[in-house]
Amino acid sequence: MSFDSPRRAIRAHMATTSPIAPFFASPPPAELFGRDIFNLKLMRERLPKSVFERLLSTIHNDAPISPADADVIASAMKDWAIERGATHYTHWFQPLTGVTAEKHDAFLTPTSHGDIINEFSGKMLIKGEPDASSFPSGGIRSTFEARGYTAWDPTSPAFLLKTGERLTLYVPSIFLSHTGEALDAKTPLLRSQEAVSRQAIRVLRFFGNDRVTRVRANVGPEQEYFLVDRRLYNLRPDLIMAGRTVFGAPAPKGQELEDHYFGAISPRVLAFMTEAENRLWALGIPARTRHNEVAPAQFELAPLYEQINLAVDHNMLILKILRETAAEFGLACLLHEKPFAGVNGSGKHNNWSLADSEGNNLLDPGPAPWMNSQFMVFLAAVLRAVHKYSIPLRIGVTGAGNDFRLGANEAPPAILSVFLGDQLTDVIKSFIEGKDDTESWRGGAMAPGVSAMAPLARDITDRNRTSPFAFTGNKFEFRAVGSSQSIAAANIALNAAAACALDDICTELEKAAGGSDPRKAARQVLSKFFEEHLPVVFNGNNYAPEWEVEAEKRGLWNLKDSVAALSHYTDPEVKDVFTRHGILTERELVARQDILLENYIREVHVETKLVQTLGRSAILPVALSALKKAADLVKAVSDLPRPSTPVKPEVLYYQNLYALSADLTVLLDELDQKHAQLDSMSGVLARAQGARDTLLPLMGRIRAAVDGLELCVDDNLWPLPKYGELLWQ
Ligand code: ADP
Ligand code: MG
Repeated sequence: MSFDSPRRAIRAHMATTSPIAPFFASPPPAELFGRDIFNLKLMRERLPKSVFERLLSTIHNDAPISPADADVIASAMKDWAIERGATHYTHWFQPLTGVTAEKHDAFLTPTSHGDIINEFSGKMLIKGEPDASSFPSGGIRSTFEARGYTAWDPTSPAFLLKTGERLTLYVPSIFLSHTGEALDAKTPLLRSQEAVSRQAIRVLRFFGNDRVTRVRANVGPEQEYFLVDRRLYNLRPDLIMAGRTVFGAPAPKGQELEDHYFGAISPRVLAFMTEAENRLWALGIPARTRHNEVAPAQFELAPLYEQINLAVDHNMLILKILRETAAEFGLACLLHEKPFAGVNGSGKHNNWSLADSEGNNLLDPGPAPWMNSQFMVFLAAVLRAVHKYSIPLRIGVTGAGNDFRLGANEAPPAILSVFLGDQLTDVIKSFIEGKDDTESWRGGAMAPGVSAMAPLARDITDRNRTSPFAFTGNKFEFRAVGSSQSIAAANIALNAAAACALDDICTELEKAAGGSDPRKAARQVLSKFFEEHLPVVFNGNNYAPEWEVEAEKRGLWNLKDSVAALSHYTDPEVKDVFTRHGILTERELVARQDILLENYIREVHVETKLVQTLGRSAILPVALSALKKAADLVKAVSDLPRPSTPVKPEVLYYQNLYALSADLTVLLDELDQKHAQLDSMSGVLARAQGARDTLLPLMGRIRAAVDGLELCVDDNLWPLPKYGELLWQ
């Protein structure tokens, strides 16, 4: 059988065969969990007691590690890695490209006697020196000053990763310039963790707690993704290079029936999920929940929450393992925020809370929150963080991909507001009015109305899926994070904003108390803060167009896209949030603004080039050959006798094809010109604005022409796998 296009050949093949998922044997989860990490258990076994104890104090209390201890730890780590079959090690870091970076070195070192030894010293563990000239630095380093340092982060365990049959020891690291500035996502994250801890402890001390030694943010990121058949994916250069489809008409069936959400998971996908989970468990990543998501071919994986620095590293590994495992199952895992136009995009729900060193969740309201002054202080701080410091939070979720999602009618809008639920909102209002509230707190039980079933405990808040920042019982869920993004930026902003808000409130508390009952002082101070920040509380439908109008009246920011948000990065109030507690220096902040805008421009430019090349070399030739066929047909039938109908289908078809092909040609020429103009412009902000205002709308118009062609060109000729094929396998 011969086919007009590889797409047709693959479809024919897929129609007659079933994919066979490879089988991977694996030990039971209890044996598997943490197998490939140099964890505390191994360290206790392999390190001298005193070194182990000092390392624990580094992990828990940020105490610095000595070079002598580092030597001992490095040697134990190396022995373990070599016993397991590793030959190389790498510092693993998170530069501002948004992905992780690694450079492998062999353990092996030749000696002067001509043989070799395996070497991995404390110095090699603590510090690496990758040639860093090609990582983004926003002008902090010029390319001729290539020196950058990676430094071991002892708070995140080293791990072994297998690529093919090769095993490598990965050492989680931060990444600094020669001059000591942070060039990565991890350094400011660790700084933000310490900042929020210091301010939270201040509040605890205010209420007389002198036991707590540190406070940590805990994060559980729920990860959404799409899976498509890899054979079809391989025929979509836009998916391969940009992660999203730049063309594609809607499928006859989209998500309107909502029959995919929480539906039964297919055997092929379940096999993939099982293997991905096994690999995550081996790395000590507590993958826990899996389900089908709203859109067809969309899924979610949620790990159990962990300390923020681990949650960030683990989320990067989750992205890597989902991608790699999918390939082995003949699937492609799409992590882009909006792979398909008109179909729900993917996000990451960043569940965030604060816990003290005794394990108490500081965001747990307890049975009577109006009596729990300490909880009310933390609640006020979160409201203040999202209200007063909303621009840093908005900046924490910027990215060209996420712009397709935020503000669309399915994801939280770009306006940041907080969902508290009616009951907690009532408690706040009663604080403002100076009343005691006991009335509105109606947790209790709920009877299912089935006599065989026990009553179910009712949560204190219902859910609001449309809110970008929702209180869900004892944590806040920041839902504006994009699926492909590192969660570091959002959490740096969240910690920074929370640290500033706690600082502001605590300063007032300390002033008001002056030796009197801290609870009374809190009541008085909080009523003022709650009144100021009540406008950020919104329990209604965030997708409704009226909310945009209402939010504007309330004076909330609506920074609709990444460029708009990033242009505020260096505003004095925004700078203050990051610099006040030393999370970023002014120089680092300016560099980050530059890098993020550059990243935005690069992404849009890749898509522009895809539209240009696919438009000219894949779509237009097919459209023109369809046009030629249609023209031949028009000529061929023109002399034939016609039935008595005024309709000339071949002429209409020809005209439609002609108009769409003409549109496409004209618009592609316009895109070429605009692209060249922007390329020659100077000023990163102006170029980013140009990409947003000129290139993206033009690409949208080109897409309309191409999608129009897709709907009328002979299906046998169409080169790109269609939405129906990609989404409904
Ligand atoms: P959903 O919001 O989809 O119903 P869950 O409430 O079960 O899901 O939890 C979602 C995520 O929130 C999980 O990763 C979970 O571990 C995490 N989570 C639960 N409690 C906390 C907490 N106190 N702090 C941070 N994350 C939490
Ligand atoms: Mg959730």
